Amino acid sequence: MLRTDLLEQLRKNPAVSVLIIGGGINGIGVLRDLALQGVNALLVEKSDFCAGTSAASGRVAHGGIRYLENGEFRLVREALHERNRLLVNAPHCVEPLPITMPAYSWMKGFFHAASQFLRLKSRPGDRGAVVLKIGMALYDAYSGKGALPLHRFVSRKQALAERPGLNPKIKCIAVYYDAKILYPERLCLELILDAERSSPGARALNYVSVASAHGDTVTLRDELTGATIDVQPKIVVNATGAWIDLANSAMHRESHLIGGTKGSHLVVDHPELHKLCQGHMLFYVNTDARICIFYPLGHRVLIGTTDIPADDPDSAICTEDETDYLLKSVQHVFPDLQLDRSQIVYTFSGIRPLPRSDALTTGQISRDHSDTILPPGDGLNFAIHNLVGGKWTTYRAFAEQVTDRLLGELGQQRVADTRSLPVGGGATSRRPRAPVRRGSSR
Ligand SMILES: Cc1cc2nc3c(=O)[nH]c(=O)nc-3n(C[C@H](O)[C@H](O)[C@H](O)COP(=O)(O)OP(=O)(O)OC[C@H]3O[C@@H](n4cnc5c(N)ncnc54)[C@H](O)[C@@H]3O)c2cc1C
Repeated sequence: MLRTDLLEQLRKNPAVSVLIIGGGINGIGVLRDLALQGVNALLVEKSDFCAGTSAASGRVAHGGIRYLENGEFRLVREALHERNRLLVNAPHCVEPLPITMPAYSWMKGFFHAASQFLRLKSRPGDRGAVVLKIGMALYDAYSGKGALPLHRFVSRKQALAERPGLNPKIKCIAVYYDAKILYPERLCLELILDAERSSPGARALNYVSVASAHGDTVTLRDELTGATIDVQPKIVVNATGAWIDLANSAMHRESHLIGGTKGSHLVVDHPELHKLCQGHMLFYVNTDARICIFYPLGHRVLIGTTDIPADDPDSAICTEDETDYLLKSVQHVFPDLQLDRSQIVYTFSGIRPLPRSDALTTGQISRDHSDTILPPGDGLNFAIHNLVGGKWTTYRAFAEQVTDRLLGELGQQRVADTRSLPVGGGATSRRPRAPVRRGSSR
């Protein structure tokens, strides 16, 4: 349906069961799941679909091996199952990614890992081979047999022979697997099309924002014309990520849910670095104990990322300091490589919609997701579900959890499941599908 027709239809019939604000992966995931249940749902996005944080990620579908040291076992297990499902359900957009992790010591990181396990606060440092071995064994166990190859360790001698340019200070390297989300924006658009195809009650409008709210009405603004339009939702889902508190404020509800951190990436045109990667992602502990990555993206190389507290999601840019930091980080892995600003093709930044936290470092803030409900109040007759956190990888599971709660509030039953449902072109993709462990639960 044409955008103008859709707006006109809403003017004539403003009642919607669920209004979803925010067209990033989490809002879109909920729209698709609600559509499959036959729920009348409207999604509005103030900019273009998937133009916020969902377009600024590192594009890795992963369980988050790093989160094991924060004790987030539930999240890692869930994320690994979701990574496996993405490989099966969207093989046209998601492919296996081998990852090389160099170890610069044998034993370092033990004290930190043990303190985290005992829920004591400590700052992370270098992670030695022994800590990596424990983490990877656990990661393989959670990942499930046959989904992707198991991890392996390679001796220093063999690694330096096979991987020219590697830092000779390494003790060994570990190789394991996750997946690469080649086209995140395409996946988002396909999910919207799938939703609209599966139910006439599912609608999505870009360039429409929330202007205000009172009683049982939310006033939307068409960002292209400035016109306003009133809708009457039974429930609102605030899926605006880093903008959650701002969107609540527009509806006259105060909240302090988000403590976002900015992450920036560089994309460089560097054929030598591209070749040195040998198709792998390099995932390593940088000299300041932060995890950094780089890997081939098409014929360029993506380098990331930073993790800096940030308040304003509308002004996230990669600063000069971040650029210097990221360029230098690569030399921790390939010390003789010449890399400078002239090879940068573009940079991008996004804000992680993380929960507010008093963690010692930004890397220790939980990457898990939650649905925080603001009950009716402050002059509003509807509840607001706030989707805080959530990785790209876990969007489907998060959407499923939120949808189940929404169905409960609407008094409806789940009639369709998304666990094995292909996304868009995934239904007809010819790429061989990666096996997923039978019986893997949510
Ligand atoms: C640097 C970085 C690297 C990351 N790497 C990975 C990774 O490799 N793998 C992974 O799984 N995850 C990764 N993530 C996390 C993941 O990208 C995010 O958690 C996820 O994209 C959040 O999606 P979202 O839908 O909640 O938010 P968003 O994608 O930001 O969507 C929210 C949308 O709401 C819209 N909006 C805001 N206000 C309004 C309003 N008033 N009215 C209407 N619309 C509004 C915005 O325009 C935006 O499009 C990374 C995040 C960052 C920042």
